Formats: sequence, C-alpha cells, structure tokens
Amino acid sequence: MTDTTALRVRFAPSPTGDLHVGGARTALFNYLLARRTGGIFILRIEDTDAARNVPGADERIMRDLRWLGIAWDEGAGVGGPHGPYYQTQRLDLYRSAVERLLASGKAYYAFETPEELEAMRARAAACRASLRYPRPARFPDESDVRRARQAGRPVVVRFTAPDEPVTVRDEVMGEVTVAAEELDDFIILKADGMPTYHLANVVDDGAMGVNLVMRGQEFLGQTPRHIALQQALGLPTPRYAHLPLILDMQGRKLSKRDGDVEVHAFRRAGYLPEALVNFIALLGWSPGGGREKMTPAEMVELFSLERIGRTNAKFDREKLLAFNTDALAAADESRLAAAFDDWLGVADNPLTRAGVPAALRPALLRANRGMRTFGDIAQRCGFLFINDDELTLDPDAVAAVLTRDDNAGFRMLQEVLPALESLTEWTAEAIDAQLKSFCAARGVGLGKVAQPLRVAVTGTTVSPAISDTLALLDRERTLNRIRRALAARV
Ligand code: GLU
Repeated sequence: MTDTTALRVRFAPSPTGDLHVGGARTALFNYLLARRTGGIFILRIEDTDAARNVPGADERIMRDLRWLGIAWDEGAGVGGPHGPYYQTQRLDLYRSAVERLLASGKAYYAFETPEELEAMRARAAACRASLRYPRPARFPDESDVRRARQAGRPVVVRFTAPDEPVTVRDEVMGEVTVAAEELDDFIILKADGMPTYHLANVVDDGAMGVNLVMRGQEFLGQTPRHIALQQALGLPTPRYAHLPLILDMQGRKLSKRDGDVEVHAFRRAGYLPEALVNFIALLGWSPGGGREKMTPAEMVELFSLERIGRTNAKFDREKLLAFNTDALAAADESRLAAAFDDWLGVADNPLTRAGVPAALRPALLRANRGMRTFGDIAQRCGFLFINDDELTLDPDAVAAVLTRDDNAGFRMLQEVLPALESLTEWTAEAIDAQLKSFCAARGVGLGKVAQPLRVAVTGTTVSPAISDTLALLDRERTLNRIRRALAARV
C-alpha cells in the first residue's frame, strides 16, 4: 500500500535561547525531508513555559534559520491555515482537550503542594524507587477543586496513564516498549492554567496534521507518554524518527565549553551558511558512497530517512573549519562579497568596529584568499585600522625578525626603504616586481625582506602576502611605518 498523504513535518523550538547546532540539525532534516517529498514544513513556537522563555528568542531563531537557508511553509512569521503558531495563542485548544479527558475519566485533578510532592519523592527514594504518583480510587470532583482552591492549594490535572505497555516504532531507533508500570500519571495542566509540554505538543501535532515527528533522541523517552495521550484524545499517532545524539570529540554532550554551539556565533565568527549547513547535514545522516560536499539542492535530492544512522554523531570542529575554508575558496566573487558584507554587519571585532570602507572590501578579500573564516581577516588585517602612531611592534616579533643577527632585519629595512620610496605605482603587482628585483640584485630570498617589512608595518609576523599587505596599507602609510620602525631602533 502506498501512502499518498503529503508529509507534514515540523520544527518546534522552545524560545529559551538562540538556535544551537542541534536544533538547526532537527530543523534542517525536517526541511530536507519536506522538500524531498513535496511535503510541508511547519515552524511552531512552544512558548508555554514562561519561566524559561527568553524575550526575542523566537525572532532570533527565525533569523538564524533564514540565514541557514532553511525556509518553512507554515508557521511563525509566515502564517498558514493551522495558526496561530505560538502555543501561548492556542491555550483554548489545550483547555478543551483537558476538559474532554476529564469528562471521559482519562484525566483527574490533583492538589499536592510542592512540599508534599517532595516528601513523597523522598519516601520513594528511600525505597530506591522513583515517585509514581498514586492514583486515587475516587477522582476529585468540582467541589473538591473549589475547596482546594479556597485552601490555597495548587490545582493541576494529571493524565491517567494506560494499564498496557506502549510501543514506539521509531524509524531510526527501532522499537522501544515501555511497560505500563513505568508510565506515571504525569501532569498535563499546570496550576497556573498552562498546559505542560507533553499536552501542548501532542494537541498541536494533531491539530496541525503532523504525520511525521523528527526530533532529537533526547525526546525518545517522552514519546510513550505522547502516544498514550494521542490514544486518549483519539488522535492518530504520527510516524516517529529520533535523531542520534551529537557529541563532542571526547564523546561528551556537545557544550559551549569547547567552542561555539550557536548558529549565530558561527555567523559572527565568519562561517558561510552553506558550509555550516553542509556540515550539519552530516551529523547523523550521509548520502552514502563517501560523499560529503553537497549544495543545498543536492542535499534535497539525496536526503532520505533510511540513511539516518543510530550512531552518535561527532561534532568535529576541524572538519567544519576545513569545509568552510573550501567553501570560501569555491565561492564566486559576488557570493563572497555578499557574505563578507553580512559578516561585517554582525561581527564585533576591531576591524568591524573600525568600519571597512566598501571600496576596500574586494581587495581585502583578494588579499586573504585561503582564509578559513572571515575572522581570519580581522586577525591578519587589523593593522590597517590602527593609526600609524598608535601601532606598537610586538616585542617577540621584533626580537625574532628585526634585532636578531646583529639587527639584520633593521639593516634590511634600511636598504629596502629607498627601493620602495622610488616606486610610484603602488599596486600589489608593482610592489611584488620591485621587491623581487631588489632581492635578485642582492641575492637574497623574498622572505628575508618580507618579514622585516611585515613586522615594521603590521607589528606582527602574520598578514597577507607582503605585496598585498603593503598595497592595502597604501604608499604613505607604508613608508611612514618603515621610517618610524627605523627611528625607534635602539
Ligand atoms: N519544544 C520542544 C523543544 O524544546 C520540542 C520537542 C519536539 O520536537 O517535540 O525542543
């Protein structure tokens, strides 16, 4: 039997912070599958936990998805036939679901205070068990609820968990069965009237016609509860696909401890979205045949659920850096220019703070060919944005390059200065030719001249090729800096 229903998938972030690479992976896989199969990709904001919400996080998540090129067909920011797409705007739906469950005896009120629950938990722990809420023989009725409210007790609604085991047939992780004894009467409506994540998530997947739920493996343990709720509410159970965990190179949960984890942080560090997306696509999925580099269109073409593995994915930062280096090298001029402009608008470093004139940008990009990220430009070209009289020479660089061997570097500067002073056409090509003929005449290698020049004009030993470095800096500033370095010599 072929299922001809279009796939409806969703990404359902809680707006608790910026989009991290794990969330981006979930969004990307859902997006790719929807595109691949002609389905619909929905963005739903799960914002019912007021204490954890971060103002503006929803907008930032959307900004980051857009930057990655992950577009959604329905949802927050774009609307659609199943809106609103913010859960706090759908509270009536959850309340009526709770009413239905209460009416059919599949849910009941409970009134314990946090202290009472804590004491119950402690008693259970003493017997080496986790708390399983003791379902009362008679469910409280409306007058019990009134009395509890008058007594200032919290009023919550709990779900009557089924007496039978629940099986999840996960399309990635396989079959997982949870025994009835392990399913507890969890809370579906909190004392403040808000639904819990479980209830809102299940009600919305039903209302929005989601027929495949693809999300991180950390949610697999919750899925039996969701299936039980779907059955109680008469909702169809969607297909499930839980994605393998993403670990760092030491096999620990990926965290900020060893570098950026947020999409926006990678943007600010100078990564191209196409490189990041390509890298993220391979966290748990691969097209096979050893293939790694793909355009977004190729990913759509090649994506399939069958090729998502169960093995934990490794977040290899070196590999990401290599992807980015290659993507920067492969980008054509206009793509590179646009991405650089974007980076200048979001990054915060001495170079972006100084403001890079538009006319200088193409030359900067050319001089930094081979860079790993745009951040390299800030590191290698910061010297351009310092006033000549504020440039300080790194003492280690001075010792290694200028004063060593009885001031050999300084002497070289002294000699090369007239050759540069006599040069009127100040382009990288002209500078290169002049330095080469200077070296040929003296029988020295270019490096012997380039490093002293570099230290004199940048204060460091790292910058673009020497001819590009001097060309970018301009004639007057170059000569000025060489003279200053020579004058400062002791
Ligand atoms: N709001 C949940 C989260 O924080 C979504 C879980 C799901 O996809 O079902 O990621």
